[in-house]
Amino acid sequence: MNEQKMSPEQIRQLAAMVQNAEDVKCVCGSIVFIQGNKLKRISRLVTGEQYDKFVPLPGLICGKCGEEMVLDDMGPEPDNIIKL
Ligand SMILES: [Zn+2]
Repeated sequence: MNEQKMSPEQIRQLAAMVQNAEDVKCVCGSIVFIQGNKLKRISRLVTGEQYDKFVPLPGLICGKCGEEMVLDDMGPEPDNIIKL
């Protein structure tokens, strides 16, 4: 993840892009999503360690109907989600 500080000009450009960007909508029409986590269990049989490992993976669910939002054109890296 890129931890570099953005310049005031970059922040201004990003704010303008966000303001003009389309809203992602749930199938129910809602545009508000709640952050949650999927939890993956990696078996100790796979890792060879004493206990299973648990890995939380961030995900978004619709705040209205509870459907999970799947970003189908999202690349393999989570870096294409901009945290404001
Ligand atoms: Zn929904």
